[in-house]
Amino acid sequence: MEKIDLSPWRVEHKTGLHLEEIDTRAPRIFPAEEDALAHQTKKLSDKLNKLQATLHASRSRALLLVLQGMDTAGKDGTIRHVFSHVSPLGVRAVAFGAPTEEELGHDFLWRVHDKVPVLGELTIFNRSHYEDVLVTRVRGLIDKDICEKRYRHIEHFESLLHDCGTVVLKCYLHISKHEQKKRLQARLDDPHKQWKLQPSDFADRKHWPQFMKAYEEVLAATSTAHAPWYVVPTDSKPHRDLFIAALLVQTLEKLDMKMPRPSFSLSDVRLD
Ligand code: ADP
Repeated sequence: MEKIDLSPWRVEHKTGLHLEEIDTRAPRIFPAEEDALAHQTKKLSDKLNKLQATLHASRSRALLLVLQGMDTAGKDGTIRHVFSHVSPLGVRAVAFGAPTEEELGHDFLWRVHDKVPVLGELTIFNRSHYEDVLVTRVRGLIDKDICEKRYRHIEHFESLLHDCGTVVLKCYLHISKHEQKKRLQARLDDPHKQWKLQPSDFADRKHWPQFMKAYEEVLAATSTAHAPWYVVPTDSKPHRDLFIAALLVQTLEKLDMKMPRPSFSLSDVRLD
């Protein structure tokens, strides 16, 4: 299987990111045909399963995957599909909602630091500390000055994680406003999905341009070599899953982890 080059979707520059110039549809380098797509995704899932087992056994590194995106972009779906073959023993997903009173009494990274992975673990953040520079900014809860200070705090925080062995990967699930409308309508029409709807979904949609502007600034300001952002085209769910599976596999492969040696001599073992 050829390695997919995901570098065009990595955010490299501190300014000049225009999300409307990045296609939300499936990238052409991915298979369009359903069979080929399923085959490639299955291969990547098997690889991810093995790599996660090595991460767990070697306990020398950890991986934090941050998922951000507008409502219905598919943060939950990504977690369900991409990790469906991975042992639940080594994977943890954490969702961050609006902060509680206690959380608001602390610095904004307090609740997040408590949930980062330990060595050997793969943790997925469904929303994250980035809400504290996105939704808070759009709703006018913080001003530009505080926001810029938070970018610096975030950079230092992620640098600390990196220095302690955690690989930080950040994915912005890039959905079009049109596709979001379809998905919100599907939720409105399906009694099994209506529970997922919140008034904020519709309120946030009204502020779509402000959210896009906030995302552009945040992604550019906080994408670093040790904690890069990727803009993941998300209008096609299977392609989104393939993108993220490929990104995880490529990242874990680069760590070149080895299964640890047994802690005792196997030649001494006698099975009766
Ligand atoms: P989701 O929309 O991810 O499925 P919820 O329906 O529980 O989950 O929504 C979580 C809500 O909490 C979102 O509207 C999000 O913007 C909000 N939220 C998360 N973190 C913060 C934060 N730090 N400050 C304010 N609001 C936040």
